[in-house]
Amino acid sequence: MEADPNSVVCARFIYENVFISCKPIHMQVIINQVTSKQHAAHKEMIYCGGRHWLRVYKVSSRSTIPTQQQLFKQTTKFSDSMNKLVSFLLFFIGSAAIAQPLAYTVANLHAHNDYEKPFPFWQAYNRGFGSIEADIFLQEGRLIIAHDTVQVKLGRTLDSFYLKPLQVCLQKNNGYPYSDKNQSLQLLIDIKTDAVPTIAALLEKLQLYPAIIHCPAVKIVITGNRPPETAFAGYPPFIFFDGELYLDYSEQALQRIVMLSDDFKRYSVWNGKGIIPQNERMVLNKAVAKAGGLHKKLRFWNAPDVLNAWYQFMKLGVDYINTDHVEGAATFLKQLPDRSYTASSVYNTYVPLYKNDGKAARVKNVILLIGDGTGLAQWYAGYTANKGALNVFKMRYTGLSKTSSYDSYITDSAPGSTAFSSGEKTNNRSVGVDHTGKAMTLLPDILVKKGISTGIITSGDISDATPADFYAHQAERTNSEAVLNDLLQSPIRFLMGEPSPKANAALLQKLATQFSIVSNLDSVTPDPARKWLVTEKKAGLSMLQGRGDWAQKAFAKATAILSQNKNGFFLVLEGAQIDHGGHENKLPYVVTEVMDFDQTIGKAMAFADSNGETLVIVTADHETGGLTLTDGDYASGYTSGQFSTDDHTAIPVPVFAYGPGAQLFSGVYENTEIFNKILAALGIKK
Ligand SMILES: [Zn+2]
Repeated sequence: MEADPNSVVCARFIYENVFISCKPIHMQVIINQVTSKQHAAHKEMIYCGGRHWLRVYKVSSRSTIPTQQQLFKQTTKFSDSMNKLVSFLLFFIGSAAIAQPLAYTVANLHAHNDYEKPFPFWQAYNRGFGSIEADIFLQEGRLIIAHDTVQVKLGRTLDSFYLKPLQVCLQKNNGYPYSDKNQSLQLLIDIKTDAVPTIAALLEKLQLYPAIIHCPAVKIVITGNRPPETAFAGYPPFIFFDGELYLDYSEQALQRIVMLSDDFKRYSVWNGKGIIPQNERMVLNKAVAKAGGLHKKLRFWNAPDVLNAWYQFMKLGVDYINTDHVEGAATFLKQLPDRSYTASSVYNTYVPLYKNDGKAARVKNVILLIGDGTGLAQWYAGYTANKGALNVFKMRYTGLSKTSSYDSYITDSAPGSTAFSSGEKTNNRSVGVDHTGKAMTLLPDILVKKGISTGIITSGDISDATPADFYAHQAERTNSEAVLNDLLQSPIRFLMGEPSPKANAALLQKLATQFSIVSNLDSVTPDPARKWLVTEKKAGLSMLQGRGDWAQKAFAKATAILSQNKNGFFLVLEGAQIDHGGHENKLPYVVTEVMDFDQTIGKAMAFADSNGETLVIVTADHETGGLTLTDGDYASGYTSGQFSTDDHTAIPVPVFAYGPGAQLFSGVYENTEIFNKILAALGIKK
């Protein structure tokens, strides 16, 4: 983009513009005061994204460095006449670029030294690369694909390795390189021998492939040894050139240049770890702006080629990511939409009063919130997406729960929550029974003897393992009919969630002898004489599918019913689908579920503050997905991560507690301790 004087705007406007309209691309601005070295007054332009350019002035002396407040005042009066007076630098930090990672696809990948791969051309082509590189030597009239003269001896030709395969693809796709007609392919030919004779031989060869040279979606681009730029125009129109970014080309030469490449080391010594140092990033931003200003694609070679570097290059707005990792980079970009999330809206978190928080005061009610599959990474992804705020992170008492089951290092949900309801480790798949299959006394059974009522809410199937752990006794969690039948022996006041497909008419008839069965939360009344079974389809929708505030509404209904008991209550609420997102390795699924779950946590904290006798505990039965966070930005709510498995992991999960008795939950302990701590908080002996 040219530095169009009309798009040069005053610094204040830029400053505001960056914050207001550039938020989605998480651009940040800082004002950086420059050293006291005597600089000659010097100005230059910095490309800020969009149509905006910024004039930058270096400092002439320390005394002229304005404070931030002065700076704002000065910038409002910014004009050409102020040039000598205003002395500051604006630096862009963070992901100060035009692009968002999510805009990138495999088409942005360039297969560097592709000819060295076990399957040249095909490996990159089959993954949808936008650019593929072949190095060629002219050897006795033949164009040999090779890296050095040793490889030349192998006699692999450009024909057999690139031109013929490409022709096959064009035939298959009716004249286009890919089945998607909008996807183009660049064949970057790196000339290793003398430019003029090698390109002459190449032209001769290409004449044999009219489908290639006439295809508008295929670009043959020459790099390596190139003729002088004055000769570019003399080549046939299907030949293009890769320019060198640091050079300035004539208008005529630029007409034949489609890409600008350069040695990354010319701009930065960054090794791919962490973020690019600020001063080097500025240089790189300028380089990106130069290519963008000329409407040329940009590629850096000799650049870090690891996951973190790919993220950073996307943020810089580098068009082609130069990679030797065909498989890894393609997988990374293909998965990126499922591994990244930017919240479309955020919610305000509750401001806790910390009423009796961590005090050995009376605990009348206990609210246990189980985020199925929620480890620290899931929480932190939600925290980032909500722009640096979570209700649960306002809880002051935290611990770690070890989740292994009786018979497995890695638990499933059945023993995971049976540990909470019984205080015992049992086998995977077992619900409310011990490892020998014997039914155990569960928390609701113990509490009902003290006059304390229990209610259960889940954003999943009412017969799923986590809710069932509090009312059923079955060695196999999927025996849903038997699980639901156990409700007849359970003292729980209500169960709310998604209908179970196993709840047949006969079973429902039996359950109806004890429960008022309704298919909508709105039908529930706080009638103290009734037990409720809410089987609502909406409860089982994911947040992305439109569950909305169902869980928060269910929580409100639940506390309205349970609060009538002057002896207190025990409420279990499961955020069931955080686990589903983990199994599917979908970060948007995980994060939207965490954000919903956390909003209910906020309601629970507010409820606790309303009476000062409620203990709120938030934990998980296990972690799901082996999630780790590899990129993110608080300002925009963008977060990106990688999963290591599509199943549960053994990593301990956080426990958060709020209200009286919360102090009991500090430390690192087995999941069974949560049962003991709940009883201890309530002052009940098992
Ligand atoms: Zn699971």
